[in-house]
Amino acid sequence: MNNPADYLSRHARPATGKEEQEAKETEEYISLAEIVHSSQQDDCLQLVKQAISTGNWKSIISPEVARTEEARQQLKSLYHVKDELAITEDGCILRGARLVIPSRLTQQAVDLAHCSHQGMVKTKSHLRAKVWFPSLDVMVENTVQNCPACQTVSAPDRPAPIITEDIPLYPWHRASADFGQMLVVMDDHSRYPEVEIVSSTGAGETIAKLEKIMATHGLIRELITDPLSMDKYGPMICIRRTQNTER
Ligand SMILES: [Zn+2]
Repeated sequence: MNNPADYLSRHARPATGKEEQEAKETEEYISLAEIVHSSQQDDCLQLVKQAISTGNWKSIISPEVARTEEARQQLKSLYHVKDELAITEDGCILRGARLVIPSRLTQQAVDLAHCSHQGMVKTKSHLRAKVWFPSLDVMVENTVQNCPACQTVSAPDRPAPIITEDIPLYPWHRASADFGQMLVVMDDHSRYPEVEIVSSTGAGETIAKLEKIMATHGLIRELITDPLSMDKYGPMICIRRTQNTER
């Protein structure tokens, strides 16, 4: 539960108010800022929060409440799991132990879970381990079905691409990174992901987060990312480009 990248665990931990924890909690809270902020901006999640608080769910499924068909579907999905929903202190929504991702960040979340190109089942399970949102399955299916690397992994008659066979011997010797509103760095040995919410994609903040991850796990010898990130952040963080460049 003390893993610094495990934002959901941190989130689920009740605030102790202990002085010694204060600095840490503040930092952790800031790292959640994007999800907190986006949840506040998300019309559907705000309606659902209201329904959780008041216990009045009828308005959620009334036809006039949703402005778009997409919102209507989203509310319907949330309504179906209403007994599992709760509100966190930060104003985010949990489904069981999983954080409900506001729609503005869902594609980002899918992209992060998909960054190691493990195919449909594993991409879904990576994502479902920590988060949930109504269109999770459909979004992963669309992403993976349009990804040549994942198709190769899934095809039974074809050999898996080198990238999946080539598992490093030790944890954190090699990691794969994906950059965006969330920075995900996944250990290629264990597939353990570190997720950091960043307020900007500027090199300064990104490098600070990478340093934090390396302070926890040790020096990453080789960091694999896509050419776009390589161009942006340069040799400071990128040692090798990925072979699969689907973007
Ligand atoms: Zn893929």
